[in-house]
Amino acid sequence: MCVGCRQRAETGDLVRVVAQMREDTPMIVVDPAKTMPGRGAWLHARSECISTATRRRAFAAALRTPGLTVDPEDLAEQLGVIDHQRMAPRSRNR
Ligand SMILES: [Zn+2]
Repeated sequence: MCVGCRQRAETGDLVRVVAQMREDTPMIVVDPAKTMPGRGAWLHARSECISTATRRRAFAAALRTPGLTVDPEDLAEQLGVIDHQRMAPRSRNR
């Protein structure tokens, strides 16, 4: 199930993320090979699902990691998701 939109989906349609300690702070990292140890959370590689899951603090709940730091823009970048509405190029001359 996707932690963002909470819809059931095939594992192949979702990406796995896990919590990893980075300098004593739990951070969310993408597990592209889906083989990292520990509890994983699954979501669509979509900006809506990332932002919804972040807003609901669904990652911390799904990964059972209180205080989990989630940077939705960093996560979107890791997933190769570009939010065209919020992440428009800052300056591009035409
Ligand atoms: Zn979703």
